[in-house]
Amino acid sequence: MINVDRDLDSICAMITPYGVGGVSVLRICGPHTVPIVKKIASFFPEKPESHKSYYGILTDHLNQPLDEVLATFFSKGKSFTGDDTVEISCHGNPQIVKNILSELILAGARSADRGEFTYRAFMNSRIDLVQAENVLALIESKSKKSAEVALSQLRGDLSKKLEAFETDITWVLAHIEADIDFSLENLSVIDYAVIEKKISEIRAQIAALTDTFQNGRKIKDGVNVAIVGRPNVGKSSILNVLSGEERAIVTDIAGTTRDIIESEIFVNGIKANLQDTAGLRNTEDKVEKIGVQKSLEAMKVADYTVLVISSDEFDEADLSQIPAKKDLSDTLFIFNKKDLVPNLNTENYYDKLISFLKLRNNYSTEKLNRDFLKEKTIFLSVLDTNALDLLKRFLGNNMKFRAEEDLSLITHSRHFENLTKASEGLERALMLVKAKSGQEFVSLELKEALIQIQETLGKSFDDQILDKIFKEFCLGK
Ligand code: GDP
Repeated sequence: MINVDRDLDSICAMITPYGVGGVSVLRICGPHTVPIVKKIASFFPEKPESHKSYYGILTDHLNQPLDEVLATFFSKGKSFTGDDTVEISCHGNPQIVKNILSELILAGARSADRGEFTYRAFMNSRIDLVQAENVLALIESKSKKSAEVALSQLRGDLSKKLEAFETDITWVLAHIEADIDFSLENLSVIDYAVIEKKISEIRAQIAALTDTFQNGRKIKDGVNVAIVGRPNVGKSSILNVLSGEERAIVTDIAGTTRDIIESEIFVNGIKANLQDTAGLRNTEDKVEKIGVQKSLEAMKVADYTVLVISSDEFDEADLSQIPAKKDLSDTLFIFNKKDLVPNLNTENYYDKLISFLKLRNNYSTEKLNRDFLKEKTIFLSVLDTNALDLLKRFLGNNMKFRAEEDLSLITHSRHFENLTKASEGLERALMLVKAKSGQEFVSLELKEALIQIQETLGKSFDDQILDKIFKEFCLGK
């Protein structure tokens, strides 16, 4: 995609989804936008005003009418891409759109590549690379929270933080470089205690930002929730209640759910992908064995594991699915079929659960107590009318996502990797300063950290990385 000649082309594409609708919008941008548009829009002025719409009939090269449209002009420097741009709103019919695009191409434009409008915006410094990635993240966001985060980052909130790191590292680097110059004359111009403190502060801030990645990833991509438990405890019924539809087959024959059935719900504004796994038990049935294997795999990658237990048949075997020594922080317990145990005494269940978990998982005694388990456990009957409310509240209380206020968290693995490298560079610089090693070595480490920040923002870039990022985009973006 990186080819200077191509970057001077005027490009066009439909920017609304393909299909029949009230209106479709096409965009053309580049240095020859106005003369190209004029060839099919005689009503369009030679010197249009920016952000103004012009109404008229488009005609083809044989002077036949194409459609009645509104054409809006955005001048160079004031458009999304930074180039002269016209957006044509025509009637929402794929054939009309196709005809107009063909005429624009005949008039001298070329079809835009995937993500090429955003790529131009980046190359024209309208947005940095973090913002460009968030154009895509915003389009693809599937939950309220992920849209909020992407919009905040598209507006530059994360970029501002990264630019502050860049300024701070540059400040330290400038001092170190000055010290190198003056040391030739046996002079020392900087206080290394100040430098040490500054590097340490920047490193801590970057580390705090990289720490948000686990959370940021969950917000952007959603969380995987594996619903596990012995056959017939009510896993499929729980999934059905939560997803509000008959997704999983519910029967009283043990081993009915042989594959993983998935369903999306929203918890605290975040997408949660529920996976109803095959009942985990020792089985001789070949097909069911595959299902059991799949559920073990689902648990490995799940962000949360919900263990369903039938209250009337609770015994040690229920715990056999929880891997030994698993950190229980992301495990929740649902005691289902409460209706089958009259006067159910929850305290006895907690005690039994604790003893089974201890036997199985070797937990440290102080952490594994009733209070710890109470927050993660619910007793209900999924057949009750209030089951949905109880389940939603239970999941909502247990799946909390930070980032209520500060939306500039790390959601992309590219940012995470670069910032981790920057943090490591600063760590090494810090050690060298402490050990009073040569300033040249400190300078090298600081430069490495600076490059990582600049690459994240796209201030220095590698063509392959750009290609990879923009190829993810759809046509017309
Ligand atoms: P799974 O094998 O764990 O997915 O279990 P299912 O959801 O298929 O449920 C097995 C059987 O238990 C079905 O007949 C359900 O109707 C029944 N069942 C599920 N939840 C409850 C409950 O809370 N109370 C009672 N009495 N029966 C339930």
